[in-house]
Amino acid sequence: MRFLNKKYLFTPGPVSVAPDVLLSMAQPITHHRLPEFSEILKEIRENLKYLFQTQKEVYFFASSGTGAMEAAIVNLFSPGDKVIVVVGGKFGQRWLELSQTYNLEPVVIEVPWGKAVKPEEVEKALKNNSGVKGILIQACETSTGVKHPVKEIAEIVKENEAVIVVDAISALGVYELPMDEWGLDVVITGSQKALSLPPGLSFIAFSDKAQVLAETSKLPKYYFNLQKEKKAYEKNTTAFTPAVSLLIGLKKMLKRIKEIGLERLFKHYQTLSLACRKAVSALNLEIFSEVPSESLTVIKAPEGLNTGELLKFLRNKLGIVFAGGQAHLKGKILRITHMGDQSPFDLLIAISALEMGFNLFGYPVSLGKGVKAAEEILFDYIKEKQ
Ligand SMILES: *Cc1c(COP(=O)(O)O)cnc(C)c1O
Repeated sequence: MRFLNKKYLFTPGPVSVAPDVLLSMAQPITHHRLPEFSEILKEIRENLKYLFQTQKEVYFFASSGTGAMEAAIVNLFSPGDKVIVVVGGKFGQRWLELSQTYNLEPVVIEVPWGKAVKPEEVEKALKNNSGVKGILIQACETSTGVKHPVKEIAEIVKENEAVIVVDAISALGVYELPMDEWGLDVVITGSQKALSLPPGLSFIAFSDKAQVLAETSKLPKYYFNLQKEKKAYEKNTTAFTPAVSLLIGLKKMLKRIKEIGLERLFKHYQTLSLACRKAVSALNLEIFSEVPSESLTVIKAPEGLNTGELLKFLRNKLGIVFAGGQAHLKGKILRITHMGDQSPFDLLIAISALEMGFNLFGYPVSLGKGVKAAEEILFDYIKEKQ
């Protein structure tokens, strides 16, 4: 019954990429040591500072987002260092696995999946454990759609010798996360989520406090050595061959982000996520996330709905790709991203597909009710833009 060849990617990474950005990456390869490439690099470095809202340099690697997480660990710490790890989902677990891999001493704050950590819990963990070197946390835990209160936690950590390391892979560029103003010591992102690019680039920036800690770090590092990248940046080049084509796309996306302006960009995500949540409640469904991020909407699967079959049908027959849950949330949630090359009309397509899919798979919702609720929010937004 497949009648559409068109695909809509609504997964929270990778996300859809704008056709003109894709085409920009199809240019002939340039050499990364040529002056023309240094010019590109210069523009990218400047605009990355705008995105991160920092005066510090932002470094990048040819890796998925996890590479920058690993870079944070190996550049900051030494074996046996105590770190507080907030584990409220799959990506918090990744922080924990990385700390264990590098023989750190993690103090875990377990947060039920779907909930946000309370700043007081971090404060308490800092009080009860002396010599903590870092707090490892997500700005948005993409597996649950939850926003952690990193601003409040940074406030607490400021008085302490520990640094706050923020995995903002699904947050930076989606909502307010000003690195310098909030005192975030390390901020990490990746290309295939909020940056609306293909997978393959990761990014990291260090505050002065993080830089000082890095100077005594004893963990081994080679490719992910930030000191090496720093020296290369001083000559306006990179330590190793960068992902040239992806950087061309990055240059284009960063320029676009700057032209749109962070404030308008945040408003765009706010509107899409609000419209999606309104649609969800109009359909009498529940949002899974206690503090929902603007990056994605996570819907609790209603009792009796076979989400595996539903997702497969949407994907194979209608070309609509949503994400399900990971680990113990498999079959229990549906995730729809707002990141990527998406207009308000793409969201209406997503909601319409959801309504039809639910009806087909034994959970009747009234057709059009979600679309209408979303459309009302989106129409206000479009009117405002006039
Ligand atoms: C996607 C993601 C990552 C990194 O995943 P990669 O597959 O390595 O790019 C890390 N943290 C969060 C919060 C993410 O959403």
